Amino acid sequence: MIKLKGVSKYYHSKGIVSTGMLRIDLEMSLGEFVVITGESGSGKSTLLNVISGLDSYEEGEMYVCGEETSAYTESDYENYRKKYISNIFQNFNLVNSYTVYQNVALAMQLTGGRAGKQQRAKINEVLKKVGLYRYRHAMASRLSGGQKQRVAIARALVRNTPVIVADEPTGNLDSKAAAAVLKLLKKIASDKLVIVVTHNYDQVEEYATRKITMSDGRIIEDRQIAPPPGGTDAVGSDYDGNLRRIRLLQKLRLGLRNTFNIVPKFLLLTFIFIFTTFAVSGFYATMRKNSYDSSLNGYNWYFQDTSDKRLVLKKEDLSAFTEEDYEAISQLPNADHIIREDLLLDRYVQCSCDSYYLYGMMQPASAVPSELAYGRHAGDETEMVISISSGYYLNDEETVQAMMEQDFYFYSNYDGSRITTKPVKVVGVAISEERNRWYVDFYVDSSVSAQVQSAVNYEFATVTTYVNGNELKGDPWNYQNKVMPAWWVPAGSVLAPEDWNYMFPENYDYEAVGKYVTVKVESMYYSDSRSFVVWDTYDKDDFVSKTRLDDYSWQNGVILINSDDYAAFFNKGNYQISLFVKDPKAAHETKETLEAMGYESLYLKDTLRNYDGAWTLIQNIYNVIWSAVLTVVLFFIDYSIIRLIMRSRNTYYSTIRMLGATRFDVRSLLFLDLFNVLNIAFAVSLGAIWSLWKGYISIESTFVTDILTYLSARDYLVIYAVLFVICFVISRKYAKQLFTDSALSTLRQEA
Ligand code: ADP
Ligand code: MG
Repeated sequence: MIKLKGVSKYYHSKGIVSTGMLRIDLEMSLGEFVVITGESGSGKSTLLNVISGLDSYEEGEMYVCGEETSAYTESDYENYRKKYISNIFQNFNLVNSYTVYQNVALAMQLTGGRAGKQQRAKINEVLKKVGLYRYRHAMASRLSGGQKQRVAIARALVRNTPVIVADEPTGNLDSKAAAAVLKLLKKIASDKLVIVVTHNYDQVEEYATRKITMSDGRIIEDRQIAPPPGGTDAVGSDYDGNLRRIRLLQKLRLGLRNTFNIVPKFLLLTFIFIFTTFAVSGFYATMRKNSYDSSLNGYNWYFQDTSDKRLVLKKEDLSAFTEEDYEAISQLPNADHIIREDLLLDRYVQCSCDSYYLYGMMQPASAVPSELAYGRHAGDETEMVISISSGYYLNDEETVQAMMEQDFYFYSNYDGSRITTKPVKVVGVAISEERNRWYVDFYVDSSVSAQVQSAVNYEFATVTTYVNGNELKGDPWNYQNKVMPAWWVPAGSVLAPEDWNYMFPENYDYEAVGKYVTVKVESMYYSDSRSFVVWDTYDKDDFVSKTRLDDYSWQNGVILINSDDYAAFFNKGNYQISLFVKDPKAAHETKETLEAMGYESLYLKDTLRNYDGAWTLIQNIYNVIWSAVLTVVLFFIDYSIIRLIMRSRNTYYSTIRMLGATRFDVRSLLFLDLFNVLNIAFAVSLGAIWSLWKGYISIESTFVTDILTYLSARDYLVIYAVLFVICFVISRKYAKQLFTDSALSTLRQEA
């Protein structure tokens, strides 16, 4: 059934060509027990490898069942080996980490056998035949040489191929074990073609039907010893069963077994995958953090407090916020707190007395620090506590005491105009943790901050005063026609400049006092107009006493109304508030919810102008390049370590290849092996991260908190994908390498 005509095989290594065998003519049939002998190096193994389809040949023709093989492709050879050939080796090539039973079952699974009752019975029957049934659950590594070789024979038996090729099967056995193995081979091989290579012909003499002697790559003797019993060339169709592929379920089972059966390998791989998961996620998180941090480094011309937690809200219908609004907004899951006097957050104010000048921001009295460095807490609206940094010039007992004597007023940061009309005293000083902050926090009563709020509202409104048909437009930036509060002006009255007299020329009267004028305020939120009676006028000489301002030359033109009237114009309630969220990452989500509730909102982080745009761009490019480089480096580190680990699996994969596994089978088994570990390692990593998140484990490490803060589910998916690709590429490349090296040289390396 196998016929060689002038077949030669040369080996090329390092430019040197050596002859494996030369012009071999040979024909062998089923039923024969062929013994090949010859000195070492005479070409016996070469001949067997060519016959087994494990090596190619250069010259001549080989026929199998009449079919010419020189045009065979890799998969043709795979099928050929699957269908016809079982190999038995000098060093057994069992899977040491499998039991006897599993080794035999493997041979069956690789050619599509399933794990049924029938198969079990078949394997047990074969194990009984080779005398190893008792040892079926023993690990292959624990067996003696003779027993190992009998497992190899059992493996050939379950595959039931017509040809059994045995290269020095007794080479590693003592004579007693050798005799038993050969006897077994003879017993099972009555209808098969058995080719045995040995340099100890005496051992096989009694079984051989034919003796072939080789020397220097040639056949120098081919002698018929006994007639083959009923030799036939026809290979029954039942052998086609061997061509089936390994079943998916079996593949998964094998993959699972391979994952765990060598514990050190499993632990090492798990460690590598966990390490990689943490390295990639840590790296990824750092990158995220960097770009997030640089996105915070922006400016906004209008808002001072540009916290990434701040959302500025107004109502869609532009009405003022009500208690119901505050209630509804604070119910949102991401809501931390609401600042009603939102405008104050963005408004620096000046606060000064005769000898001290402070600059900073107003804070609600409720937010005052509980611990004060000097003095006491405030009692009413005439008192306040301030907070300064420890490095501030005021931080000195004597200075503070002197300052506490003084009357302070607040002034607009825009035009320097006085915002508050009643003096406030500093009664307590807190020291903040920041060392060199140059601004001060003023913890004031709401009646004081309301005045600032009014002043701010004034700036955002258009104020027009109608005096006898003359339209006097107020300008927030100077004092001409500026309306200001004054508690000493009676309600419903106005204190005006004497120029107004000239606006009443009727009957040459030129008298403004007692006449009615109208003040109209328009802002984006509301418009309001009220009538006032002119109460008094001021001129250059009585300016200071009447207006209680100090500089006629540039404050002339100011219009004073009663503080309550002023508040009625400019402190109608809050049209704009700020919501501070707990989690900035969910800010956009919160924004959407708010919009659905009828609030327009501005997420301040989105409004930042970054004047370092080019720098940010460079930084982002840098991040991307680094991440790519590091991922690739990590990939190759992983790749080389995993390959090293998998090299210990060379014998296994070469063996299954010998038993009929295709390259695809090997690749997918390899992949499953790695993939299982990947999933376990990933689950362990996620479990650890989850425990940290839940607080079951706590570590003082910014690295870990960064991972927690900056990575989302999508990022973990990306990390998983990277690891998946590593598994995939390694299994592909490794399987390719296994199939490029001849399976034999791999096995030879192991031996
Ligand atoms: P045997 O099995 O009879 O000892 P081999 O078939 O292994 O002989 O070797 C036959 C000849 O081919 C020897 O000269 C040997 O050096 C050479 N040979 C075998 N395998 C290789 C190989 N992989 N590369 C180069 N030369 C080889
Ligand atoms: Mg040899």
